[in-house]
Amino acid sequence: MRNSLYVIGLSFAIISCGSQKSVQKSAVTPKPSPTKVTTPAKPQTPTRPNAVIKHEGQNEFFKVNLANAANNDNTISYGSIVSANPQGYRVVKTYFPALAQNFRQKYIILHYTALDDDKSVMVLTQQGVSAHYLVNDLGDRDIYQLVDENKRSYHAGVSSWRTDKMLNDTSIGIEIVNSGYTTDSSGYRIFPDFDDEQIKKVAALVKDIATRYMIPATNILGHSDIAPTRKQDPGPKFPWKKLYDEYQIGMWYDEPVKQSFYSQIIPEEFGLQMTNAQFIFKYQTALKMLGYGLEPSGTYDDATKKTIEAFQYHFRPANYDGVMDAETWAILQALNQKYPAK
Ligand SMILES: [Zn+2]
Repeated sequence: MRNSLYVIGLSFAIISCGSQKSVQKSAVTPKPSPTKVTTPAKPQTPTRPNAVIKHEGQNEFFKVNLANAANNDNTISYGSIVSANPQGYRVVKTYFPALAQNFRQKYIILHYTALDDDKSVMVLTQQGVSAHYLVNDLGDRDIYQLVDENKRSYHAGVSSWRTDKMLNDTSIGIEIVNSGYTTDSSGYRIFPDFDDEQIKKVAALVKDIATRYMIPATNILGHSDIAPTRKQDPGPKFPWKKLYDEYQIGMWYDEPVKQSFYSQIIPEEFGLQMTNAQFIFKYQTALKMLGYGLEPSGTYDDATKKTIEAFQYHFRPANYDGVMDAETWAILQALNQKYPAK
């Protein structure tokens, strides 16, 4: 009984999905007299390649892209297919994979370790924090993988960007060995340079990950972008512009657009409105629109200062004092125009 119900249910499912097989079957009807037979038009079933599942030892792999890349839906599997093994039953992949799926990996988050190579490895592998990748500064060609890309690593902490929160769930974390900042007598943070060879490694790694998961420019960020009140890494010495110019990685503004916004600012008036609640509300809203987790209040508070600072680390690294000056404001507007939230 159960079996026949199953068969009925299955054939219903096949028919309701408009399978070519079921239509052909119904087309085999008794032939009418010698009159001309017109073959029914083939149904418009979406064409899709058969799933090719490769086997390697106990592991199964699937590496075919079946979906529409323009929708950011994708069905490439880069690792082994992880499956259940229920006792007494068989998990079969006859209908694998369904088209309606996408990647969990939506972001790439860059960090610096503020530790040397050995300590970075020790802390990121033996303690409560981790990253998917660690980029050393030893001048070799090695990049250390610490966590499977399909799993969460613990690098972002409390974080947000646009409508997403807690980005450990949806990001690939990359730690870069760098000693981190020191503070001068006035409290200003001084950041050390990154090694050129190390940056080339980072660029190649980010490019590879971003291409495979189709991660948009707006989602390639620093830790300070997604946690501006808590974090400063990778800091103002991280060469975001170089990565944009030379590798087409991440966001950067167009200079003429920035200049156009800049030329609309009248210095005398701008100086006066710096403390104006309406203007503060306006730029807080613009920061939030770009992606920063800042709630507009009209008050220049600590969170606002730190968010401006984080913005400057990324987009105006020559001066990161946390003040919304005319150039910072022009760059922010140019970025919002270029990368509008959907
Ligand atoms: Zn970090």
